[in-house]
Formats: sequence, structure tokens, C-alpha cells
Amino acid sequence: VQKSYSFMLRTKNPCGKVSNELYLAMDDLADLFGIGTLRLTTRQTFQLHGVLKKDLKTVMSTIIRSMGSTLGACGDLNRNVLAPAAPIERKDYLFAQETADNIAALLTPQSGFYYDMWVDGERIMSAEPPEVVKARNDNSHGTNFPDSLEPIYGTQFLPRKFKVAVTVPTDNSVDIFTNDIGCVVVSDDDGEPQGFNIYVGGGMGRSHRRENTFPRLAEPLGYVPKKDILYAVKAIVVTQRENGRRDDRKYSRMKYLINSWGIEKFRTVVEQYYGKKFEPCRELPEWEFKSYLGWHEQGDGSLFCGLHVDNGRVKGTMKKTLREIIEKYNLNVRLTPNQNIILCDIRHAWKRPITTALAQGGLLLPRYVDPLNQTAMACPALPLCPLAITEAERGVADILKRVRALFEKVGLKYSESIVIRVTGCPNGCARPYMAELGFVGDGPNSYQIWLGGTPNQTSLAKCFMDKVKIQELEKVLEPMFYYWRWKRQSKESFGSFTTRMGFEKLQELVDKWE
Ligand code: SF4
Repeated sequence: VQKSYSFMLRTKNPCGKVSNELYLAMDDLADLFGIGTLRLTTRQTFQLHGVLKKDLKTVMSTIIRSMGSTLGACGDLNRNVLAPAAPIERKDYLFAQETADNIAALLTPQSGFYYDMWVDGERIMSAEPPEVVKARNDNSHGTNFPDSLEPIYGTQFLPRKFKVAVTVPTDNSVDIFTNDIGCVVVSDDDGEPQGFNIYVGGGMGRSHRRENTFPRLAEPLGYVPKKDILYAVKAIVVTQRENGRRDDRKYSRMKYLINSWGIEKFRTVVEQYYGKKFEPCRELPEWEFKSYLGWHEQGDGSLFCGLHVDNGRVKGTMKKTLREIIEKYNLNVRLTPNQNIILCDIRHAWKRPITTALAQGGLLLPRYVDPLNQTAMACPALPLCPLAITEAERGVADILKRVRALFEKVGLKYSESIVIRVTGCPNGCARPYMAELGFVGDGPNSYQIWLGGTPNQTSLAKCFMDKVKIQELEKVLEPMFYYWRWKRQSKESFGSFTTRMGFEKLQELVDKWE
């Protein structure tokens, strides 16, 4: 009997943009060749699980012919470029999304192998803005390998995956500091984009029992005028290409290079490729987490509607209803970095029938979704991910219910919430190290507990305890929630509270709790 290999397939959708045609194709493919569900990921893409090897060509060519792509969705190169998913007609949002598209195009491999393999050499998408083509091929900074097919990647890909996000001031829906490169649009007083603050060296993945692997926040590299952004990104990528460690994959993300060099040396080397000095980063206002759930004006006369999808898993009646609505009204959609979906370009007259259809299909507007669920995320883990040590997606609903029950027990209101993220292994696909309460699988039915992230994803959590058995959660969480309820300062978030208290004090509270 021959083995039946099955694959997880991930798409690439810069800014989470998904055309009507592509959504309908993905919905069909999930039923025909997957496990009947669509997974919305934390990087604004789709995952199809359970695609058999014999069906790969059909599935991939269908995606490509529907104007989608899987090129660079996995592997040691630039992954999907994040940008705020909201279809808001505002100059800075549009510019952030356009820049994300351009960076994705800049860092797409140029070899034709992908199309040769999946659509017999037929390159379906080739329209790239001239500035992208120019920035890629411009050798004046000495960043290229002249004889290589790949002007940016050279003779081999990067040492490891490479993540980029673009956003606008205040909007941290993209978890900007968790990326290898984070770009923030800086505009003048009239709202006209002028340039970018660039942050470098973020990354989540780590390994258990290797203390010199760690999650890290991106730090400021500098400001560039908008015309230079692609050159600056290229210079950073080439710096990592040339200097990132290739001898051990555990230490090959750019965060380890920056950590060992220090930001000053890193900046100096990047400037040599960039050919200019970076200006100091511009001052920015406070960050906020924006979910875009519910109904909003786009600013062009249409509406958009953000829908919460638990763990990004689109299935059953919800899947059927979403498809019906998207097909009937010919809607484009956007996927958010929080595993949710936004229906775009909705006319005012459609709001009422769509609201009714959503409710009948169990798709809930935010006022009906527990605030804990609205910000929670979990990775797929068991049984879908071979790296999983324990449950995440299948276990998070129960964890959230238990947290809600504890909130009630200690007198916290229903409107109170904290950011909870769960992963089945330390790779951290659902970014648990940015959560106020992060669970990272470290054994069968056991988790490390990470504390200290903030609701706007600007600080890194730390590991408070490990090997906490799932059935013992209340023993650890109840005392912390109780003291947060009674001892917090005005409007102090749970993450800030745990940081202010310090782990020693928290441990004492947990140990003494009866
Ligand atoms: Fe798999 Fe680990 Fe990523 Fe979860 S965090 S999806 S278990 S690699």
C-alpha cells in the first residue's frame, strides 16, 4: 500500500486582501480537497489542511487562476506582508496597504519555477509597479549578486523566514513589533504620507530548554522618506542575507543578528547597502489594538463589517452563510491579523438583510461575543501541526470559559477583558509572548504561563511558570485575578498589573492562595 501524503497549504495575501473570486475558490477547495474548513491565520492568509499530494497541482493552480498565490507563504524568504485590514479610504491607510503590496512584490522570488510547476509555465500575475521593478534591479547600492536569477535573494534564500508589517500611527492591529521589519507611515499635518519609521528585529519563536532562544520586540532603526522605503527594506533584507546565521536554524532569524551586533552596528551595516544615513524615528502617538469588528463606514459611501471568527476556523453553518453572503452581494473580503474576516464594499441598503443573514448563520456581531473571545487567539496545534506538543485551538474555548467563570467568581464585570493567546509549542504562531496571559504548550496537557503583555501589544511577556497542568489552571489564575480586581490602579490592565507586582510577589500570592 502506498503512503498518502497530505499537506497544509497556506496562501499569500498581502494586507489580507482577498477578492470575491478567490474567497469563493478557497471555500470550494476546502470542501473538495481539504477537511471542509478554512483557517484564517494570524498573518492574514488562509490555511487549507489535509490536501493530498495527488491534489496539490489542482488546488494550487486553481488558487493561482483565481488571482491568489502561495508563493512565499512558507519557506526561508519573505512571508505574507501585514497591513491594517480595514478598507478605510484614508490616505495613510491606503498608502500603508499599497506599500505592503509593493514590499511583497519586491521580495517575491523572480525565478519562474513556481509557475512552471503549478500552471505549466503560465505566469498569471505579472503586473508589478515600475518602482518595484526598479528597486529590485537597481544595483547602485551594491546589494545584488550580478549573476543571480534572484536580485535580492542571491544564490540562496534567506537563512530563515522573514516577516514584514506596515501600518499607520496608533493602529497596532498588525502586532508591528513582532516582525523582522515594521514600517509605520508618517504623514504631515494635512494627512499626506511623507515617509516611514522603520523598526527591526522582532520575532516570536523560541525553543524550550534553550535559554538563548527568545521572543524579541523590534526596535527603532530610523526614518526614511517615502521614496526610499523599498531601498531601505532591500538593504535590511540583504544585511540579513549576508550576515544571518546559516549554521543553526534555531538562531538564524534576524533578531539574533541584531541582538548579537547591537542596533548601532546593524544600522551602520544596513546604511552601507542603503547608501544613506537613516534619520531619527519620528515621534508617534500611543498604539491601540483595533479589531474593526462590527459595522463601519469605509469613507467612500460603502460600509464594511468585521466578523469575529473563533480561532479563525470557518466551518459548518458559518462557512455556508459567509459563502452565501459573499457570493450573493459579490463582496471582496479582508482577513485580519487577529484571525477575523471583514466583508467589504457593502451598500447601505444591504446592511439589514446581511445583518439578518449573519445572525441566522451564527456569525455574531461584537456585542454578542464575549470580550475575552474577541481578542483571544490560538494556533491550530493538535492534530494539524506536527510540531504541537499539546492542544491550542481545540482547547482554547474551554480555557476562555474557565477564565470567564473565574472573573465572575472574583467580581470582575463581563465587560472586563484580557488578551489571551494559546499555542501548542514554543514556536509562538499565535504570538503568545505579546499576550497579557499567554499559554505555551510544554508537555501533554501542560503549559508555560507567560504574563506581562499589554492590550495594545507593545511589551513582551515573560515566563511566569512552566509545566502547569491544564486542570490546575484555576489554582494559578484565581489569586492573580482576585488581586488584579482588588489591588489594581485605575484602569490598570492585567498585563501592566502583573508587571508592576513582579513575579516574586505574584508567586507568593499563588502559593498562599487557599
Ligand atoms: Fe504548530 Fe507550534 Fe505554530 Fe502552534 S505554535 S501552529 S504548535 S508550530
